Order: sequence, then structure tokens, then C-alpha cells
Amino acid sequence: MSFLKYNRREFLQKSALASATLGAAISGIAGTETKETGKNILNQQSGMRYRRLGNTDIYLSVISFGGLVSDESVYHYGIDRGVNLMHMSTSYKGGEAMRVLANVLKAKRDKVYVAFKDNFDDIDEILKILGTDYIDFYMINRHAEEDVKEPGLFQRFEELKKTGKVRFAGLTTHKDVPKCVAAAAEREEFSLIMPAMNQTAYDSMTKEIEAVHKSGKGIMVMKSMKGIEDNELETAWLKKLLQDPAITTVNKGIGSFEMYDRYAKAACEVLTGYEEQQLYKYAQNNRSNNCMMCSACEKACPNNVEISTILRCKDYYLEQQNDPQTALDTMQRLNKIQLNTRMCADCRICESVCPNNIAIVDRLVRARQLFADCFV
Ligand code: SF4
Ligand code: SF4
Repeated sequence: MSFLKYNRREFLQKSALASATLGAAISGIAGTETKETGKNILNQQSGMRYRRLGNTDIYLSVISFGGLVSDESVYHYGIDRGVNLMHMSTSYKGGEAMRVLANVLKAKRDKVYVAFKDNFDDIDEILKILGTDYIDFYMINRHAEEDVKEPGLFQRFEELKKTGKVRFAGLTTHKDVPKCVAAAAEREEFSLIMPAMNQTAYDSMTKEIEAVHKSGKGIMVMKSMKGIEDNELETAWLKKLLQDPAITTVNKGIGSFEMYDRYAKAACEVLTGYEEQQLYKYAQNNRSNNCMMCSACEKACPNNVEISTILRCKDYYLEQQNDPQTALDTMQRLNKIQLNTRMCADCRICESVCPNNIAIVDRLVRARQLFADCFV
């Protein structure tokens, strides 16, 4: 059975039926996707599944490496086992993560695609540091619907594409996510959409995800495990995401061999009925812990506080204690208005519009404690 034989809705119905009845790992799942559909898969290995990226002739591993958790030995380990996509940005770990990627590319450039997020003012410098002649996915970072719709959005991409320094265009977005994703679905230049999308967000974005799939693009999900602290739930959620043919790859910072093995194993298994139930319960019980990056709070804020960025940095800082630099750098780029939370205790308008009832003000207070030097 090929995943490409069904549209997304039919596939999800069939998958739900399969998971309810089979309820166990299937060893042949990797072969079913690759044998019938892929003829020329970069770095293909038997322990990994691959999915065709939209209408392109590229097949991506269903697990791809994120750049914020960058461990060179784990990168090598995963690539040796079939991972063929890495995402990176100049901003991660103050530039150190990019240098780790460069070390990996020295030995393995011919085994992986590189997705890179930057403003690309000086692409030659980036290529020089990475030790490569081109970037596969030129990831444009936009967080508002009107910015994704901007007529000149692809000008720089098209210029660089003519030189052969970039190949495909992608979008990264972690604010106003549903609207940005819907807008991106309508722009034919994009091949790969990379939204921040945890379980709550995924459940609320059926229409937008379907639009991306129908438009012949792929989705590389990021921050998909946000809020999940249980290993078994994490892998159940990975399986659930991969039931959806619209999800080409799950991008994840993987910090250990054990974690890689757990993810790779789960990627080749079918979600069980029990796991589906656990995910449902988790989603019901944890809504108020899971921001879905819809930006409703920010749009309602009378003081233009950059709520989502502040809260994102707080989480980065607390969750990635070994890398405080990325959060600090991002916070330091915010201006005084974006950081003006002095009126919050008497306001709470943002909380009144949050669909998930998140205690936003308490979180802003915590961020203020962590980044005291940044706030006015
Ligand atoms: S509580 Fe603070 S962040 Fe929320 S809407 Fe009011 S001023 Fe904005
Ligand atoms: S805090 Fe609530 S309103 Fe704000 S982005 Fe997250 S889910 Fe949306």
C-alpha cells in the first residue's frame, strides 16, 4: 500500500482503523513507503522511513535533525542510520551550532539536505563557514500573514537560485501560525513549510494542513513535542503525526543516541489504540500548558508586548540550560515597547482571549525574573 494512493482525509481514516485493529508495531512500514515510491532516495537506510516532499522528486527522512540541540556525535549516528535532512540557523547557540554542522558536512555533505534559516544578506560567508557550495532549502522566517503574502518575498531567493546557491524555498513560522501556513499554501514558490506545531496546534489546524498538502508542498513540523514530558507520550505523538501524509518530516533536536533510537523505532511503528487514548487524555488535561502560537494574545495586547517571543525565550532558557545564549540573544533583540510588561498585573486582556486559558501573566513574570537585565 502506498501512502500516495489516498488523499489525506482517506488516509487518516484508514490509519485510524489500522491503529485500532493492529495496535502493534509493523516491521514492513519502512519498505512500503520507499519500495513503491522512491527510486532515488538520498542516504536511504533500512531503519528509516522516507516521504516524498510534495511535488518535488526529493524524499526526506521522516525524522530530521533540529539545530538548537546540536551534538556532533548524535548527528553522525543519525545520518549513519538514514537521516537525510538537517535544519540550522546562524542564530543558534550564537553561531556555534552552525560550526558543529560544518564539521558534520565535511564528511557527510553528500548524505544530507540542508535547510537553513537566515536573512541571507551574506550567503557567501554562510556557505564558506558550512564548507558547501549550496543550501538545499532557503528558509524564510516570517510570523505574520501579511509578511507571507508580501509580493517581493521571493526576490532574494530567486536571485540566489539563479546562481545555484540555493535550491528550494521554505517558510519557518512560530507566530500567527495557522494564518501564516494558510498563506504559504497559496504561494507556489514554497516547497517546504516549517510551522511550530504541538499537539494542540495540530488539532486546531486541520484545514490549513490540508491546504498545504493539496498545494503540493511538504510540512516539516518543529516544536512538535513542546509541553510533553513523558517519553512514551512523545513517541506516541510522533507516530500520530506520521500517520498524516501531509507531515513530511518531524524536525527534532536530538541530544543522545538513546533518544535517537527511541524516535527511529517509533517512526517505524503504528500508533496503537491505547496510545491514541493516552494522547487524547493528555490533550484534554494539558490545554492550559500548551501554547499553540496562534498570536491571539499579542493581537489583543494594548501595549504591543511581544508575548510569544518572551514566553518562547523563557521556555528555551528553562528547557535548554546548556544553551542560554540563544534565548538571551533573542531577548536582547527586543525593544522597550515589546518588553513593557509593567501594566500586566492590572490588565490581563491577553489571558481573556487565549483559547487555551494559559496563565500568560504569570509566565511573563517568570520571564522577567529570568531576563531581568532585558526588561525596562
Ligand atoms: S497583560 Fe500585559 S501582555 Fe497581556 S494584554 Fe495586558 S499589557 Fe499586554
Ligand atoms: S498564549 Fe494563548 S493566545 Fe497566546 S499564542 Fe499561545 S495559545 Fe495563542
